[in-house]
Amino acid sequence: MTDPLRCAIYLRVSLDVTGEQLAVQRQRADCLRIAHQRGWRVVDEFVDNSVSASDKHKARPEYDRLVAAYEAGEFDALVCWDLDRLTRQPRQLEDWIDAAQDRDLLLVTANGEADLSTDGGRMFARIKATVARGEIERKAARQRAAALQRAERGKPPLGVRLTGYTPAGEVIEQEAAIVQQLFDRFAAGDSLRALAAWLTESGVSTRHGRPWNPSSVRTILVNPRYAGHAVYQGTTNGKQGTWEAIVEDDVFRLVEAKLADPRRKTQQGTDRKHLGAGLFECKKCETKLRSWSGNRYRCPNGCLTRAQQHIDDLVLKTVRERLARPDLVELITPAESDKAKSASEEVKRLAKRLERIEADYDAELIDGRRYKVSSQKVMAELAEARLTQARLSTRHAAASTLTAADPVTAFDSAPLMIRRNVVDALCVVKVAPTPRGRKAFDPESVAIEWREDQD
Ligand SMILES: [Zn+2]
Repeated sequence: MTDPLRCAIYLRVSLDVTGEQLAVQRQRADCLRIAHQRGWRVVDEFVDNSVSASDKHKARPEYDRLVAAYEAGEFDALVCWDLDRLTRQPRQLEDWIDAAQDRDLLLVTANGEADLSTDGGRMFARIKATVARGEIERKAARQRAAALQRAERGKPPLGVRLTGYTPAGEVIEQEAAIVQQLFDRFAAGDSLRALAAWLTESGVSTRHGRPWNPSSVRTILVNPRYAGHAVYQGTTNGKQGTWEAIVEDDVFRLVEAKLADPRRKTQQGTDRKHLGAGLFECKKCETKLRSWSGNRYRCPNGCLTRAQQHIDDLVLKTVRERLARPDLVELITPAESDKAKSASEEVKRLAKRLERIEADYDAELIDGRRYKVSSQKVMAELAEARLTQARLSTRHAAASTLTAADPVTAFDSAPLMIRRNVVDALCVVKVAPTPRGRKAFDPESVAIEWREDQD
């Protein structure tokens, strides 16, 4: 029985920022499997870490040692993960091809692409080395593979760190508190623009040091990593990250729903400055009041124009009294979050159905007329489901104020949008016209009706 062939393994990663050598481990496992399958004995392993193979001026000490070892006749077979890993310089590759041809070196790649012991394998290797494949493309593919591996291990992704976390994925308390507030305030109805202004005011800097704008705020709000979900290529892979979540799953889902709410776009830019605008109703025609010049509310149908101050004061005072009552908690039923959950599932289901209809149309499985009919029907259902979802999420956002240890203080210190939501969650405010010439404020002219049925 002859001795098994002596085999060397060459591994290299050019992008191992963390030094965790995940990529090397991955390559090693693949290479060892090949050696084992072929019955070779591994005599040495050469690892170049974080050294580029495309720049011939860059020293690759282990590569040099590998060449020396081969010259010294220390191995008969070489396994590398990919030819890219061995060399990206055609001249160096030719040396290995010569070695394979003239001196019977068995050179195989772990991905099975190249076997320099065969004509086909040599040709493949030459083509691969000479045809200019986009360097960037390959780099991107490797980064994706590493990102996928990290996501599968539930590790925080590499790259620019996320606001709220250190690059290693540890929570920075101060930033985390701001991120939490950001989610809460958006869930409660603050606009992206208002939040950007708030962040800038509070002196928090963006990761790139640029001023905040609605889109950089949005980037934070849509990032599932804040809820502790591992992410790969922009979508969650259903795995839970190893890092600590900053934002509760429920809150994250609500924010997601609000961002997807088609009504949001039209509401943007109309940051509410008044408690009752678009919230209080005209008692006569039940239309929502608008704010009017001189700090007044006005019914769009012209039934009334009234000073805001007294009405707002009365509503705030009444709501405070309600918040101070011990039975407050009954207003928030646990069923709320279940309803929100099923609403968001319904939205997802319909969105998927719409996608399928579009795919069927693209694949010419259905004709244009059927496409139109079915897609319009689903779109209508989807709009309806999104409304339900947004309505529930607004109520839920108010609940965080309602469930605070001291709801009155929480209410008073909350931003206007949150106070509006709390008012909306608790009651309906109906404002009646006042008789002409009457100066004194009459509390009877403002009806505050509690929402008893919290459905
Ligand atoms: Zn009216």
